Amino acid sequence: MQIKAAVLNEQTKDLDLENVVLDDPKSNEVLIKTVASGICHSDIEFQDGGFPIQLPVILGHEGAGIVEKVGPNVTAFKKGDHVAVGFASDGTCKFCRSGLPGSCVNFNKLNTSGGAMGDGTYRLHKQDGQDIGNFFGQSSFGDHIVANVNNLVKVPDDLDLRIAGPLGCGYMTGAGTVLNSLKPEVGSNLAVLGTGSVGLSAVMGAAVSNCKHVIAIDKNDMRLEMAKEFGATETINNTKENMIEEIQKIVGSEGLNYVIDTTGEPDVMKAGLTALTIKGQFAVVAMGTKTIKELSPMIDILSFSKSITGVIEGDSVPQEFIPEMIDLYRSGKFPIDKIVKFYKPEEINQAIKDSVAGTTIKPIIVFDDQYQA
Ligand SMILES: [Zn+2]
Ligand SMILES: [Zn+2]
Repeated sequence: MQIKAAVLNEQTKDLDLENVVLDDPKSNEVLIKTVASGICHSDIEFQDGGFPIQLPVILGHEGAGIVEKVGPNVTAFKKGDHVAVGFASDGTCKFCRSGLPGSCVNFNKLNTSGGAMGDGTYRLHKQDGQDIGNFFGQSSFGDHIVANVNNLVKVPDDLDLRIAGPLGCGYMTGAGTVLNSLKPEVGSNLAVLGTGSVGLSAVMGAAVSNCKHVIAIDKNDMRLEMAKEFGATETINNTKENMIEEIQKIVGSEGLNYVIDTTGEPDVMKAGLTALTIKGQFAVVAMGTKTIKELSPMIDILSFSKSITGVIEGDSVPQEFIPEMIDLYRSGKFPIDKIVKFYKPEEINQAIKDSVAGTTIKPIIVFDDQYQA
């Protein structure tokens, strides 16, 4: 079928809205009419050349929509189901089988290579037949998506699908890092570095874990205000105040037990690591090329037996965790509807710019302008 999608033809350049060809779903795949897709930091990292990717590719990995057609061997989904589309995993390696699909041995190949689907063939093509690579097994920057059933999570029919997409990546990464990976003890002290959508979701996770101090740190006062709504007990603007000193004033001799970094900024990360107490744990959920080049924090780790954990997609099983996040949203503890801004498909490059500038916390592209929640 013909679809309209935002294609990345060259890194560091704008996305081009084009008519492209989407194949029918193959075995264990589903065709979805995209209602909306979030824009996540990883989309922007690959667009602006921070990491290599095969081209052309259609980015987007926070899709949500309505199942239009199922391929052969699909039994768990049917036409009309509402779904959030998460990351791709092979479902068969030992990590997938032990409940850590985010650590799948084929994660990079299936999600971020910009290559073919898991079976080695492409679903997306240019009009002249040239193959277009997929992103996270979904390429949600298009008005339709073909994805494997492993990517999909059913969501309730009465949930606003326009805000459901980021449950499959950004929100899951933040909340899952706290609730599935770090699992802070009741009464522990935790700091979140960066209060974009991932950081705010981590704050929410810490608040429902009954941490004593949940300290949100950012350079943007508007976002810090938002962090309070998500459950931060204190906030620090690290461009106006000394972050390490302020943390020490708040936690005193109890120390800071957990830090979650969502910034990837070497200086902020180093300060966070220094602020951690003995045996403290530092979770890394975002990385840029700058992080890899500049950060060598081995002294802190060795001297005080601190630990650094890499957490992908919040160590979540999306089929279990997304319904939990939806329950939290409905009980008012996860006000994700307050951090989104909707854009039209032709505004996608502006949406990316607003995200980079920090004026929008979670941009969402609405592909189906007829959709009503
Ligand atoms: Zn993402
Ligand atoms: Zn796997």
